[in-house]
Amino acid sequence: MAETEDVNITDRVGDWHKFLKKHYKKDLGNIAREYPHLRSLSIDYRQIEKWGRKGISLADELLKTPGKVIADVKDAIKDYNLIFTKDEEENVEHINIRFLHLPKKLPVRDIRANHINEFVSVDGIIRKTTEVRPRLTSAVFRCLQCGTLTPAYKQGYGKFQEPYRPCHQCEKQTKMELSPSQSTFIDVQKIRIQESPEGLRGGEQPQTLDIDVTDDLTGILAPGDRVIINGILRSIQRVSHGNKSSLFDIYIEANSIEIGEKEFEEVSIDENEEKEILKLSKDPDLYRKFTHSIAPSIYGNENVKEAISLILFGGIAKELPDGSRLRGDIHMLLVGDPGIAKSQILRYVIKLSPRGIYTSGKSTTSAGLTATAVKDEFGDGRWTLEAGALVLADMGIAAVDEMDKMAKDDRSALHEAMEQQTISVAKAGITATLRSRCSLLGAANPKQGRFDAFAPIAEQINMPPSLLSRFDLIFILEDKPNPVLDRAIGEHILKSHAVGELIQHNRINPIEGVDSEYIKKALAPITPDIDPVLFRKYIAYSKRNCFPILSEKAKEKLIGYYLGLRNLVDENKPVPVTARQLEALIRLAEASARIRLSDEIDETDAARVIEIVDACLRKVAYDAESGNFDIDKLVTGIPQQRKNLLRSIKEMINTSTDENGYVKIDLVIDELVKKGNSKEDIRKRIDELIRGGEYYEPRHGSLKRI
Ligand code: ADP
Ligand code: MG
Repeated sequence: MAETEDVNITDRVGDWHKFLKKHYKKDLGNIAREYPHLRSLSIDYRQIEKWGRKGISLADELLKTPGKVIADVKDAIKDYNLIFTKDEEENVEHINIRFLHLPKKLPVRDIRANHINEFVSVDGIIRKTTEVRPRLTSAVFRCLQCGTLTPAYKQGYGKFQEPYRPCHQCEKQTKMELSPSQSTFIDVQKIRIQESPEGLRGGEQPQTLDIDVTDDLTGILAPGDRVIINGILRSIQRVSHGNKSSLFDIYIEANSIEIGEKEFEEVSIDENEEKEILKLSKDPDLYRKFTHSIAPSIYGNENVKEAISLILFGGIAKELPDGSRLRGDIHMLLVGDPGIAKSQILRYVIKLSPRGIYTSGKSTTSAGLTATAVKDEFGDGRWTLEAGALVLADMGIAAVDEMDKMAKDDRSALHEAMEQQTISVAKAGITATLRSRCSLLGAANPKQGRFDAFAPIAEQINMPPSLLSRFDLIFILEDKPNPVLDRAIGEHILKSHAVGELIQHNRINPIEGVDSEYIKKALAPITPDIDPVLFRKYIAYSKRNCFPILSEKAKEKLIGYYLGLRNLVDENKPVPVTARQLEALIRLAEASARIRLSDEIDETDAARVIEIVDACLRKVAYDAESGNFDIDKLVTGIPQQRKNLLRSIKEMINTSTDENGYVKIDLVIDELVKKGNSKEDIRKRIDELIRGGEYYEPRHGSLKRI
């Protein structure tokens, strides 16, 4: 009696047979039919657990001893002939048994030695992927003397297993060569996964873990993908300078991959929270509350904060039937003097965004802002594709500080990333298109330290006008002394520091009368109206559920403003306002409607965003030199007046060139001064022409065309 029971308990193969026959007959049939095209059986963990008492113990066993369980399942298939293919025995060995939907996810940072050889499930973003390359799994060699083939040698990871000599047939100590056609290979790829940003507490560096994927799991992931990796945690001995070390590295031998797609699925909203969100959406003071809940410790900058609240909600991305895609994400740039809280604002925004990444233009990783392909030790000689900040921030916000200091490669890749929201990499063996569907919130310091209203913005922050025109909003923040404002900011800063001091002091040395009520009151000026946790959930809720439509009246208003902008221009001003500005208006208006969870974009939304855009354009496009409103300054980087002067100079040079091709500089200057230009301006422009390489100064005082 006891004996039979024992047999029952340990007959795992039989159990798996019953389980598979009950639930996976169809899948096994498909594999039999389509092998080797189809060669993986995916088993849902939840289904095993549901399969009664036996199921629970099978499931438990899978978590603890996955290697044995996979062998058991294969035995069940083999012993009970569950798959009928031509070369059964052989083929079953090559079928992958994959398990999906594990109950518990382990954070990358919590993985410890006791998890080694267990089945684990981790989630995160793909940071790097190598090329897919074949790995030798079993090698057959041919003796160069007699031509006999050796038996198959199993090949492990890393070191190549050489055949034994002499040859077992001719017994000569000869060379043996690998016979690839008799050997077996498997596709392998190495992947590095990084913790998702939303799981990190502010400022923490995300941790990474390497994953080995094989066979039909290779080549399906790209950097930036959000995934759940299920697999066996393996350890591998470190080797330093050729010596084995007692330290081990860990990696996951991937068993299955689940790709996440839904927007903000990681933000959970329960019924009560939904009620709270809906109530808040009816609040007449909603817009002010959101604005004031952004970086409350920073005084003023209301317009910037209002714009940020729009960015957080974002417009609507549209997929058109012809396959084109219109971006919904709003890009914004803060340009300004140092010390006016640009960096602080950026950091705060990341806290509010359900998916946000903060990075600096002079990024520390080699992938920089976009992506890069490198050949490094990670890939063991293979090319590796690594995601940068904008790829990792896919479906979120990338806050990029110090954009003026970004690398040249990034600057050119940003053009594509900002408009098409993809990043293409074509280098060596790697060609890939990564997605970067995120808002870019940038901050830049002017080169000279202070913003110069007389110089083009593009020049000052080291960004080409083509890139600038991709921002929906550009704010110029100047730090001009203003006694009233300075006092207000000063008092606000003092208040926040004072209450901070009070809290610290009170902790060690309680002060009489200072209780939590008192501190709450003192904190009031820097307490957000909407709690950051609720704020995040509200954004996620809105992005998931709210897709407003433009009303006729709003359309009229937006188009009216846009045409007005285009009309500001007289004939000799080329392309002043582009359709980009209209698209920006639409995106912003969509975001404005989303804030109150409205299904319709109405006039008030249009009016709100026109006000914001107008204030921005006035600042950005204001040409201090001429005192005019001039969008050329933004679009081409050269103010109209300066352009006119340049044109006059070139004309003058053409008309006064002598037969040898020389022009006297003084002559040009004199003529143009007569026409009312200042001598310094003319000289400056001429120097620019020389610097730009159009002309040179072969001898002092003379110009010649190149
Ligand atoms: P930036 O990145 O623009 O150079 P920072 O974000 O580093 O400036 O800000 C410098 C410091 O000045 C921060 O500690 C910030 O809190 C403070 N500060 C600047 N402007 C304000 C303001 N309007 N209200 C409160 N604090 C401010
Ligand atoms: Mg800064």
